[in-house]
Amino acid sequence: MRYLSTRGHADRPQFCDILLEGLAPDGGLYLPESYPQLDASALTRLRQVWQSQGYAALAFEVLSLYIDDIPTSDLQALCRKTYTPEVFGTPEIVPLKPLQAAEQAQPKIYLEALSNGPTLAFKDMAMQLLGNLFEYELARRGETLNILGATSGDTGSAAEYAMRGKKGVRVFMTSPNGRMSPFQQAQMFSLLDENIHNIAIEGVFDDCQDIVKAVSNDLVFKRQYKIGTVNSINWARLLAQVVYYFAGYFQATQTNDQKVSFTVPSGNFGNVCAGHVARMMGLPIDRLVVATNENDVLDEFFRTGVYRVRGTADTQETSSPSMDISKASNFERFVFDLLARDGAKTEAIFGQGLSQQGFFDLSGDACFAKAATVFGFDSGRSTHNDRIKTIQQVFECYGMVIDTHTADGVKVAQEHLQKQVPMIVLETALPIKFAATIVEALGCQPERPPQFEGIEALPKRVQVMKADVDLVKAYIVKHCD
Ligand SMILES: *Cc1c(COP(=O)(O)O)cnc(C)c1O
Repeated sequence: MRYLSTRGHADRPQFCDILLEGLAPDGGLYLPESYPQLDASALTRLRQVWQSQGYAALAFEVLSLYIDDIPTSDLQALCRKTYTPEVFGTPEIVPLKPLQAAEQAQPKIYLEALSNGPTLAFKDMAMQLLGNLFEYELARRGETLNILGATSGDTGSAAEYAMRGKKGVRVFMTSPNGRMSPFQQAQMFSLLDENIHNIAIEGVFDDCQDIVKAVSNDLVFKRQYKIGTVNSINWARLLAQVVYYFAGYFQATQTNDQKVSFTVPSGNFGNVCAGHVARMMGLPIDRLVVATNENDVLDEFFRTGVYRVRGTADTQETSSPSMDISKASNFERFVFDLLARDGAKTEAIFGQGLSQQGFFDLSGDACFAKAATVFGFDSGRSTHNDRIKTIQQVFECYGMVIDTHTADGVKVAQEHLQKQVPMIVLETALPIKFAATIVEALGCQPERPPQFEGIEALPKRVQVMKADVDLVKAYIVKHCD
C-alpha cells in the first residue's frame, strides 16, 4: 500500500515512512492511494476472526490491509502486545453497553466503551498502538525520537502513558500551568519514567502550541534533536481507530445484511474520519453522525456547506473541553474524498484560501450534497444545558453515568434515530476525568477506577517554565544525552 498527500504531491511513501512523519511535504495529510474493499466473504471472515479470536486479531486483519512494510508476524505480535485485557480492562477491549429501559424490547442506542485504557479516554486505543509501533520502527532503523507536544488534557496523557518506558523515545509535553483538571494533572505529573518530561508553561494552551510550532519550524534544531510529534493528523492513529468501528458493528448485528449508524463526539474530526474510512471499505454503516459542542465548526459545515475556522477569541471554553477546537485538523482528509480526490482543488481551498480568508464555501458545489447522500454524514450540536440534561436522563433512565463528551454524542444521536437501525455512540472518556460537571448534573462524584485511587497525592515530576521558546529548547538539549 502506498500513501498520497491530499494536496497532490508526487511522492508515494509506504506506511513506515509516514509513521514517524507529520504532514506531507506539501502541507497535505496522508491517505492510502485507495481504500481496500471488503466483499461479503471478506466481511464474514472478519466477523469470524472477531468472534473466535477477539480484538487484537481483528486489529491485525484490518491493519495488514494498509501495512505491507512490517513482516506479518511482527505486526501480529505488535497488535497482541497492544490490545490486552490487562491494558484495556475487559476481554472484549471495546464492549457494547445497551442503553435499555426495562419496558424496551430492543435497545435503540448502544455505547461503545472505548475509554477503559490507561488514561480513561478513547485516545488510548490509537496511542497505545502508536507507542509500540514507534518503538519497533525506531529500533529497526537504529534511530531515536524526541516527541514534543502541547496538550490541554487527554492527548498529552495518552501519549505519555503510551510512550513511558519505550526505548528510543523521549516525550517533552507542554501544558498550560494550573489549567488542567486536578485529575488530569495528577495523571500526567505522577509519571516518574525517565523518558517522560512534563513542562508546565506559564500561559494558556495557545502559548504551548506556539512554542511547539516555533521549535518545529527551526529546521536545524529539529533535525539535530530529532523532534517529532504524535498529533491527531498521524495516519497510524486514524488507522488504529478504524478497527473499533468493525468491532462495534459485529457486536450490534448478527449478520452482515444489517446496518448500524454511529454518532461520534467530534473535535479534530479524527475519530469520525476513521468511521468514514471503515464505511469506504464496505462496512455496512448507514449514517455517520458528527456531534459537536458549542464549538460547532463541523456541524455548521454539514448543515450549510460553509467551513468557517474560528479565531482563538471565538473558541469557547466548554464542559466538554476535548472538543473545544477552532479548526478540525483532520477534516481535510474527508474533504479530499468529497472533492473526488482532486489534490489541486483541496490545495486551493485548504492552502492559501483558508489561511487568508478563514473560510471556504462548498454550498454551491455539486459535491456538497454528496456528504449526506453518498458518504452518509449527518450532524448536530449540543450545549452545556443539553449536556447536563442528557447526563441526568441517562442516569435516571438507564442507571449509567456518562462523561460530558459522550453526553454530547447521546444528545445528538437521539435526534438521528431511525427505525430498525441500531445507533452506536462512541464513549470517548470516563466521567471521572470531568468530575465537576458530573457533580453539577447529578450532585455526586463519579466512580473512580481503583487504579486511580489517591493519585492526586502521589509525588509529581513537572518543570514549570516561562512561555519562552529558548528555555524549552535548552531544557530539551539538557535532557538529550
Ligand atoms: C479527543 C477527544 C474528542 C474529539 O476527538 P476527535 O478525534 O478530535 O474528533 C472527543 N472526546 C474526548 C473525550 C476526546 O479526548
